[in-house]
Amino acid sequence: MIPPIYQTSTFVQDGINVLRNGHEYSRGSNPTRNGFETQLAALEAGHAGFAFASGIAAEDALLRAVLAPGDHIVLGADGYGGTNRLVNDLHGKWGISNTPVDITDLDTVEAAVQSGKTALLWVETPSNPLLGIADVAGWARIAHTAGALLVVDNTFATPFLQRPLDLGADAVVHSTTKYIGGHSDVLGGAVIVAKKEFRGQELAQAVGFQQFAGGAVAGPQDCFLAARGLKTLDLRMERHCSNAAVIARWLGTREEVENVLYPGLKTHPGHLLAKAQSGGFGGIVSVQLAGGEAAARAFAESMELFALSVSLGGVESLVCYAAEMTHASVIDTPLAVPRNLVRLSVGIEQVGDLVADLELGLSAARRGLGRYAAA
Ligand SMILES: *Cc1c(COP(=O)(O)O)cnc(C)c1O
Repeated sequence: MIPPIYQTSTFVQDGINVLRNGHEYSRGSNPTRNGFETQLAALEAGHAGFAFASGIAAEDALLRAVLAPGDHIVLGADGYGGTNRLVNDLHGKWGISNTPVDITDLDTVEAAVQSGKTALLWVETPSNPLLGIADVAGWARIAHTAGALLVVDNTFATPFLQRPLDLGADAVVHSTTKYIGGHSDVLGGAVIVAKKEFRGQELAQAVGFQQFAGGAVAGPQDCFLAARGLKTLDLRMERHCSNAAVIARWLGTREEVENVLYPGLKTHPGHLLAKAQSGGFGGIVSVQLAGGEAAARAFAESMELFALSVSLGGVESLVCYAAEMTHASVIDTPLAVPRNLVRLSVGIEQVGDLVADLELGLSAARRGLGRYAAA
């Protein structure tokens, strides 16, 4: 009934290089990991899936698999801070350049493409933490006209809500740490690719080789936990979405709140696009406080159910002051997050309890005093 955890580094051979069931060494293949990878590929309607030790390790492997020194990336500006750090501070040293672009403006995306140099377009939708919506099919057209690949980070939406490969993307990346694992108890990442040739090589083969040769694989226990998470992904996402919708609407009625960023709101500029390309609006809500930075900090530090923490996508609600927590690596740059913004990862608790907790946060925001600020 339950796939076992193959807690083994190596596999006994039936003769010299006569592999039993095709397995030699767990960096190359492991049945627990392979099962999870097959599930991921199926969920994203992909050709092949690859599991890594973290989302960043998955992104790094994909970049190494397809890029060469001198290449250029068109990078969605509003994205995970760690992706930005990876592309700039790590791959930048190896001659990879990038241009950050407004993910919602296809003209800007097209203008950023450098003919003969741009190998990759990379976008997150909904984006982190501004919840912008990118037109995936539009991005794919621009990428393919340029002979480049489109990568979509589908961590926020999950394949339950959105399947970027069906919309024209060539590869999807995930931090399985988030909704796929779903319980804040395991780090992991994944790359899922379409069947596609790039620079004379099968994408799946290039990523598979990078996974084996680079070695940042997910371990069997981590794959077991993430695969267990998958069993309830749909149930959890339904609840994340319905709780987030109630909370976004409720926050919008409050005078302490300047702006609510949630694609499910009809007032959100990406609402209709999100509705057209995905089956729901997700569990992340960002909120800008009318009282500015002091109010935002007090709000973030004053709740009890919404635990002050980075990460997202677990069953428990989390709150994060993005400017200095998840997005500290882009502080004082044009990509910096507004200082009155707080990001909520809405969990699956009873929504009435969450609203009561937010009421607590807003009353602290009115006083401009967080739980830890007084000390
Ligand atoms: C967390 C996250 C990542 C990085 O994943 P890790 O598992 O933390 O390495 C990448 N993209 C998005 C959208 C994320 O939220």
